[in-house]
Amino acid sequence: MNIDLEIYSPVQQIKNTLFDEQGITLHIKRDDLIHPLISGNKWRKLKYILKKASTQNKTHLVTFGGAYSNHLLATAAAAAKLGFRSTGIVRGEEVTNDTLFLCRLHGMQLIFTDRESYRDKPALFDKYFGDDADAFFIDEGGASAEGAQGCAELVDELTQIYDHIFCACGTGTTAAGIINGLQSRGLNTEFNAIPVFKNGGFMKDEIDKYLTAPAPYQLHTGYDFGGYAKTDDKLIGFIKQFVADTGILIEPVYTGKMLLAIYDLAGKDYFKPGSSILAVHTGGLMGLLGMKEKF
Ligand SMILES: *Cc1c(COP(=O)(O)O)cnc(C)c1O
Repeated sequence: MNIDLEIYSPVQQIKNTLFDEQGITLHIKRDDLIHPLISGNKWRKLKYILKKASTQNKTHLVTFGGAYSNHLLATAAAAAKLGFRSTGIVRGEEVTNDTLFLCRLHGMQLIFTDRESYRDKPALFDKYFGDDADAFFIDEGGASAEGAQGCAELVDELTQIYDHIFCACGTGTTAAGIINGLQSRGLNTEFNAIPVFKNGGFMKDEIDKYLTAPAPYQLHTGYDFGGYAKTDDKLIGFIKQFVADTGILIEPVYTGKMLLAIYDLAGKDYFKPGSSILAVHTGGLMGLLGMKEKF
């Protein structure tokens, strides 16, 4: 099986008078353009996971997520594209929405499960697919060392050295991978992680799990806007303005929070004059469709 996708992820500059005043530059790496559904970091995370599955002759991907999970949809689309069967074990009672519609359309079988059982994913895998020799377990969000390995490759694509790189964090796998990539190339770029959960300090343990060697980085808590998928008027207002100003679509769960953090930190003189900043657009735009009423 040929487990590869051509990566199209250009870097673009975002102009703003705030950045001019501060003497700093912001660029954005458009991982959202890699694929419309296997969005950005989700493809990077899946790449070595799927190579491992293929090496083990596994043909049936089994993974986990909430009803709006970008990872579930990315897995469904990648499975269809690359010739795997796929099953998604979904947290909570049976529902339908745009994400799950698209998962099914790509041939993913969905199994809904109560929140209590959902906690023990290996047990669920054994219960449903213990006898299926073709089945391959992929953790929620693609969290894994293989996931981090794929994300490290983002650093290889950069043609400029930045002073700062910013990325939104769910499982922390993408962050860990980029930090590993910076370390292995001996770059002094400061990595900045923006947890999207309330009390995001725990993200440090999650990121550290997948670091190949201890490395310094910044964790900016306080940009969760009340918790996972929570928003407020400030965040929604920022997203509307950003999209209208730049023509680059972002969403409130991950990329909106990460970019707002950069603008907020710039306004607070966090960056030295002359600093160059790279924001990673991790995609996730399908999530917007589940949040229309917030706009
Ligand atoms: C899944 C996702 C993330 C989080 O990536 P992790 O590797 O789990 O930290 C960030 N942004 C978007 C758009 C995502 O869909």
